[in-house]
Amino acid sequence: MEGTSIIEINKLKYFENLQFIRSKLHKGVRISSVVKSNAYGHGIEQIVPLSEEAGIDHFSVFCGREAKLVYTIKRNPDTDIMVMGWLSSPGIKWAIEKGVEFFVFEYSVLKETLKNAKKLKKKAKIHIEVETGLNRTGFDINDLNKVFKLINDNKNNFLVKGMATHYSGSESIANHVRVRRQTKKFNKIYQLFLKNNIQPEYRHIACSAALINYPESQMDMVRIGIMQYGFWPSIETFIGYIQQRTDKTDPLKRILTWKTKVMSVKKVKMGEFISYGSSYLAQENKTIAVIPIGYSQGFGRNLSNFGKVIVGGELVKVIGLVNMNMLIIDVTSLSSVKRGDEVVLIGKQGISEISVSSFSDMSDMLNYESLTRLPKNIKRKVV
Ligand SMILES: *Cc1c(COP(=O)(O)O)cnc(C)c1O
Repeated sequence: MEGTSIIEINKLKYFENLQFIRSKLHKGVRISSVVKSNAYGHGIEQIVPLSEEAGIDHFSVFCGREAKLVYTIKRNPDTDIMVMGWLSSPGIKWAIEKGVEFFVFEYSVLKETLKNAKKLKKKAKIHIEVETGLNRTGFDINDLNKVFKLINDNKNNFLVKGMATHYSGSESIANHVRVRRQTKKFNKIYQLFLKNNIQPEYRHIACSAALINYPESQMDMVRIGIMQYGFWPSIETFIGYIQQRTDKTDPLKRILTWKTKVMSVKKVKMGEFISYGSSYLAQENKTIAVIPIGYSQGFGRNLSNFGKVIVGGELVKVIGLVNMNMLIIDVTSLSSVKRGDEVVLIGKQGISEISVSSFSDMSDMLNYESLTRLPKNIKRKVV
């Protein structure tokens, strides 16, 4: 371990998660594996090959840079890449050249795409994103006429791969009315497409939560992020699902483990303060261990005097302030801890476990946020 910690990705569990996702799909529905934000912190370079090995042939990313990374990693020439968010002008040109698909939600971008496609004598593979109620990106229904016209006038330069929208929170029943309205609107707009002689190859709207809570939203393709990594989009979605089952075991498995090692062990006398400042006073003689993880490595400062890690199979407390590159744990209760011992930050050791959600709970963050904050420069390894 050259760096100070390592993230392990469990291949078998990843395959099991995909198997579960597939078991929920209607026949013929394609999966797009969402690998934006470094595959939710798991590592694009690790996840894309695993995904392809499991038969996935479509990836969704947020920006051109991520698309380029997937493009260089993918092995299957038939694997498609779709950019759902930001593309710069050179990015648009690159995407058309390489046959990379992308969302279009601005008329100016549609025109820019056309200009480039003409120059390159190519068809741009576009997904028209439509506004159905999230009120983020997407063409308003009233602006679609000129979109249709430009596409129909330039059939040689556009390939309408898809028509897409995104739900405003399908992981919570609180949004039920809004979400249902979005589906209705989406279907209405689809009819408009057809009326204007535009047949998108894939209609897609569903994310992980929608796949579970609104199975009818699967359409032709689903964009699955969080569930492939073994997490439910919300506790509510998990409970809603499991309540209807006789088998109550969670079908999704966390695939990520984050580990480090003990760097130093020492004794501290009662009455001494530990780490910077005076936030932690030793009220008895203590044995402390220092580990080479701090807030710059993704262990939030808000976990000072609060977070937990596992060492010697036991959950132990973080004491004092989390530093930039180090933190201190209380190992007084353990019989022997020495430099080099394995420390688990997320994952299992012996019978103790820290899930991402407990890590998130400690810091009041969503799974999504905690995962994507895991720094890119931590080495990832598939096991
Ligand atoms: C991130 C994202 C998804 C995937 O969402 P999950 O909840 O992780 O499955 C799907 N669609 C869009 C547009 C997204 O941005």
